[in-house]
Amino acid sequence: MVARVIPVDPFDLVIFGATGDLARRKILPGLFHRFRVGQMPDDSKIIGAARSKFDTNEFRDLIREAIQEFIAEKDRSDDQVEAFLECLDYVHVDATGDTGWKKLAGLLRENKIRAFYLSVSPSLFGSIAQRLSDTGIATSDSRIVVEKPFGHDLASAQALNADLLRCFDEKQIYRIDHYLGKETVQNLMALRFANSLFEPLWNSTHIDHVQITVAESLGVEGRGEYYDQSGAMRDMVQNHLMQLLCLIAMEPPSRFEPNAVRDEKVKVIEALEPVDPSEIVRGQYYDWNESKGYKEDANNPESRTESYLAMKVAVANWRWAGTPFYLRTGKKLRARLSEIAVVFRDPPHMIFPKMEGRRGNALIIRLQPDEGIKLRTTIKEPGPGGMRLTEVSMDMTFDNALGEDMHTEDAYERLIMDVIRGNQTLFMRGDEVEAAWAWADPIIGAWQESSQKPASYDSGGSGPEESLMLIHKDGRRWRAIGS
Ligand code: NAP
Repeated sequence: MVARVIPVDPFDLVIFGATGDLARRKILPGLFHRFRVGQMPDDSKIIGAARSKFDTNEFRDLIREAIQEFIAEKDRSDDQVEAFLECLDYVHVDATGDTGWKKLAGLLRENKIRAFYLSVSPSLFGSIAQRLSDTGIATSDSRIVVEKPFGHDLASAQALNADLLRCFDEKQIYRIDHYLGKETVQNLMALRFANSLFEPLWNSTHIDHVQITVAESLGVEGRGEYYDQSGAMRDMVQNHLMQLLCLIAMEPPSRFEPNAVRDEKVKVIEALEPVDPSEIVRGQYYDWNESKGYKEDANNPESRTESYLAMKVAVANWRWAGTPFYLRTGKKLRARLSEIAVVFRDPPHMIFPKMEGRRGNALIIRLQPDEGIKLRTTIKEPGPGGMRLTEVSMDMTFDNALGEDMHTEDAYERLIMDVIRGNQTLFMRGDEVEAAWAWADPIIGAWQESSQKPASYDSGGSGPEESLMLIHKDGRRWRAIGS
């Protein structure tokens, strides 16, 4: 099956921070993909803007190298790459000074969609927005895209929102959470709201619990000092895991439209109960072979920042009363895995002999690796010998269902095209981000006041022992991370 491509209208996209890691690894290779498949019209313009004093040719050289590094050879030809590079321009801009803004204004065209992607530190969001507004470069229908982290607490998120809203209307602001651009995450919405099969079961009468796991096999990898200011709560839970929880728990929106969807997500966040400290486990990895761990990576022997976090969360509304959501995320775990498991209750009366190790029905929504959705069911073990049960999964993995050649867009590609189309559905609204911080802040505040240290866990393992207890004491168990 070949992915259907609907070209967007021609656009001028300015990428602030175009020489940076994110732009080179994700944004520009993603745009190249969209160009290659014919979605990005060739009369579109991408203007790189950063501090480095490059000219356009030097910038094109940098991006040629990035495409060669980050796009597989089978997915590019030299002609395609050179044609894409023709769309690129560069301007040396100082986000906090006067340099470059006049030149930038001169490069932009009338009557084209105008978008500004701020792939820079959030400390620059306010000054860039202000300069775009003061110079008249931003028009009333321009779009502005901002990267994570969107604040480190409620007050800083409110300040960032205020900075942006001084210059742009909320309907022009696109706050990226790239998890929302993942194919499976959107498929989750299709699964829930385009089928009549699941919705009648989608409540605490039928769902025993939900597990959301985002496990990474890598550690903090040279970003230790930055990460130490943040930790798993700020880096992953307040944003990515919260977004996944919202998509599972939200009520069906009245329409598949940005505000209808985001209204329902905000209601979920506002329905979250404060988390009891006894339902939270924080950990730091340690490698016994190397006699070093998170603290050494963070260059902070006294660090109490968590590289692992597990928690039991309750959504206090009619649909979910009695169905806990268990969240866990961590670094240096056994494998890289992001998935949601919706675990259904057992039948009220079992007529068959007890099956050893039976786990019951579950819908597994896998974001990475092997993106796809599986439904675990119990069937009769084939063959003679009586009525023995076994478990099989109905596999809705994309490679199987749609063919291995189907290139599923990277999350960034999809989200950038949504910006050009002016569709905010997969972007976080200001009040949504603030609601998530209002939930997270008291939890983080309590840690800061407490003298409790994070538990130690083995690098390459499944997280601290205490996190097993968190779910075992409720008579449940985590799904395995890796084999
Ligand atoms: P980075 O590699 O440090 O790049 C920063 C970019 O900002 C560079 O292009 C730099 O230009 C430019 N810049 C810095 N100060 C400037 C100024 N005063 N005026 C104009 N340009 C300036 O950072 P990054 O990793 O790409 O991350 C960018 C943003 O995305 C950050 O907010 C980060 O948190 C977020 N993010 C990154 C990732 C990732 O995987 N990298 C993932 C999620 C979110 P010069 O290099 O030319 O000086």
